[in-house]
Amino acid sequence: MSKRDYYEVLGVQKNASKDDIKGAYRKLALKYHPDRNKEPGAEEKFKEISEAYAVLSDDEKRKRYDSYGHVGPEEAFRGSEANFEEVFRDMGGFSSIFEQFFGRGGFGSDLFGFGRRKGRDLVYDMEMTLEDVLRGKKEEVEVPRLEKCGTCGGTGAADGAKPRKCSVCNGRGQTQRVYNQRFFTSVSVEPCRTCQGRGEIIDRPCGACKGTGKERRMKKLKIEVPPGVEDGMAMQLRGEGEESESGIPGDLIVNIRVKPHERFERLENGNLLFRQGVRFTDLALGSEFKIPTLDGSEKLKIQQGTQPDSLIRLKGKGLPRYGATGRGDILVKLDVKVPGRLNDRQKSLLKELEREFDAEEKR
Ligand SMILES: [Zn+2]
Ligand SMILES: [Zn+2]
Repeated sequence: MSKRDYYEVLGVQKNASKDDIKGAYRKLALKYHPDRNKEPGAEEKFKEISEAYAVLSDDEKRKRYDSYGHVGPEEAFRGSEANFEEVFRDMGGFSSIFEQFFGRGGFGSDLFGFGRRKGRDLVYDMEMTLEDVLRGKKEEVEVPRLEKCGTCGGTGAADGAKPRKCSVCNGRGQTQRVYNQRFFTSVSVEPCRTCQGRGEIIDRPCGACKGTGKERRMKKLKIEVPPGVEDGMAMQLRGEGEESESGIPGDLIVNIRVKPHERFERLENGNLLFRQGVRFTDLALGSEFKIPTLDGSEKLKIQQGTQPDSLIRLKGKGLPRYGATGRGDILVKLDVKVPGRLNDRQKSLLKELEREFDAEEKR
């Protein structure tokens, strides 16, 4: 089944504000909430709009969705509790219903079959020049990752010693707390304080990892950024982040930072702006310039009688168009320089030219 566009699901425009998105979601959530709507398909619809809202209500996720498209529900809901709480809080006691529906363990726990949490995402800032953007960039990076300790195999116990079951949580690593609120009772599951959520107590900790069972290791990774990316985009390398307690790795997020260029200004659609200084005579008589490009240089012909504000296009010499085919253009803007100082001969030549213009006007 192919997924519908998240904006379409919520019935909002691509440039919708946060309030618009929240309003649209709230309306649809009220309509399709499984407690209110018993029609077949309502539950599916509710899940769909909730996933769309989880992504579009989060700046970071929305940006990634705009650049790279759909993510899995588990990714969509990760860290989204606050967004939902906000919507349902002002609906008066609605949050309990929502909680029932999505399960008590929080978002993405029961409903979507992801009972175990993923590890932390790692973030890497990739600096790129416009030349890199033209060709794409491959870089081998070393990322620090927390992985299973190689000495104890992740148990955290010294050689031969066996961890024993925590008696406080009975080895489950979690304790439950019951909260009584005005309209409902909720159960919150928290990591056991005695064993720090491990479920086990280690009497003789492993010397290499000090009993944590984790080891910080540098991992070499090849990052390949495609051509045409823009400053502020992000790439997600699945499974390259830190491992969680249950061994599920997070992702590596590569943030793209494009440095300003000393010659070119980046415009929309792969176009670049280049300013060429010219003299009045270049425009009046016509001239030729060599214009640097990102991958060489190009001849630029200025026709006789070209006006100062003209933009001249060097077709296909710009950057690759992201998500489209072909390259943009280099737009050459002609900046006319007027000489600040003239020698006597130049002055008399210009005077003569001026007289000639005057005479022509009177004719
Ligand atoms: Zn160890
Ligand atoms: Zn415990």
